[in-house]
Amino acid sequence: MNPFQYQRAADIAGAIQSMRPGCKFLAGGTNLVDLMKNGVEKPAALIDLNRVAMSAIEPLPEGGLRLGAMARNSDTANHPAVRQNYPLLAQAILSGASPQLRNLASNGGNLLQRTRCPYFMDAAFPQCNKRAPGTGCGAIDGLHRNHAIFGASDECIAVHPSDLCVALAALEASVRVRGRNGERRIPIGDFHRLPGSTPELDTNLKPDELILSIDLPSSPYAAHSHYLKVRDRASYEFALVSVAAALELEDGAIRSARIVLGGVALKPWRVAAAEQALIGKPPGSAWFEKAGQEAVAGARPLRQNAFKVDLVRRGVARALGNAGGLA
Ligand code: SF4
Repeated sequence: MNPFQYQRAADIAGAIQSMRPGCKFLAGGTNLVDLMKNGVEKPAALIDLNRVAMSAIEPLPEGGLRLGAMARNSDTANHPAVRQNYPLLAQAILSGASPQLRNLASNGGNLLQRTRCPYFMDAAFPQCNKRAPGTGCGAIDGLHRNHAIFGASDECIAVHPSDLCVALAALEASVRVRGRNGERRIPIGDFHRLPGSTPELDTNLKPDELILSIDLPSSPYAAHSHYLKVRDRASYEFALVSVAAALELEDGAIRSARIVLGGVALKPWRVAAAEQALIGKPPGSAWFEKAGQEAVAGARPLRQNAFKVDLVRRGVARALGNAGGLA
């Protein structure tokens, strides 16, 4: 591991003032410290946020719920307000990592997880545009079974590893951030970036900005939602494909729907056409299968991951079936 300076922030203002080029904020460290040990991340200094008061989970005055950036994933998943009003989020969190990791990992850190592309994770591998811009992409002509089928570029075909973010996208959360120029709110759909020609940039967060909280609006989906995760083994594994599905029902028909995919792109992949296909329809397997078909429109599978197209198609139908009470 490279030598680095360590600094402990006492409050939000101090943390932001301490940030300078080459530094990183340290929350749970469950991803960052691994990457430092691998030599993928080499920050000059870590600014430890663990004594900064940002772990409250509290109702918002206008309705909805604020999740502190430093609240631990396990505390979030087990919070009564999350379990009651946002069960989709609790399911997604509990499907990720191990209990030990969830006890340490923070909500803000989860948003900033980096891809688990093996070429990115191995600092000795020469070709990775995300880790070393301009070197090429080892995965395109190499192993890419787990890689993207949506939104990839010639520069990078990686996927985002988070489960939590997929549920947040379905719940239309926003991310409250603060930097030296003040505070702003980023809709979760705009928080992560597709690779394009700048795969080294994962998010639209500015270098000096600190994530303060994730804000959830009131949700009409508590009664009918499901997070489906398909993976190579039953636990402690990243998604091959995941689906966050949520339905709002009124008089026996679907009033609104949310369908967001994980494991298929470098950001949570919302499929608006599939959502629209359900509006006004009764919950039923024929409509859910049609939504699955809509969800794969535009997929661009690679040599080794065409199976993900089928997983998405079937996964969307199954997740909607579970959400709609058909299972
Ligand atoms: Fe690097 Fe992206 Fe290619 Fe993986 S897919 S090797 S992260 S550039």
